[in-house]
Amino acid sequence: MTQPFYKSSRWKNKREKILRRDKYLCQECKRYGRSTQASTVHHVNPLEHSPEYGLESWNLISMCAKCHDSMHDRTTDQLTAAGERWRERVSPPP
Ligand SMILES: [Zn+2]
Repeated sequence: MTQPFYKSSRWKNKREKILRRDKYLCQECKRYGRSTQASTVHHVNPLEHSPEYGLESWNLISMCAKCHDSMHDRTTDQLTAAGERWRERVSPPP
């Protein structure tokens, strides 16, 4: 039986590592010169569509709850324009 992804210790460890890498600051706010404490780690390529990138550092970005919310359209379950912009900016390392 597999554990739900977000409850797994692999995810929890990775999440902590990403937050530390990003100095616990929201990377979306940072683009606008704001310093906001990050509380979530966003999957740039969403987990539902790209589970193989679920634990890849390049696919993970620290965000505040507000920015993270603005990445996902909760009614359609798709990325918003802001979410797509991040997706265009990251890619797997060669
Ligand atoms: Zn933010």
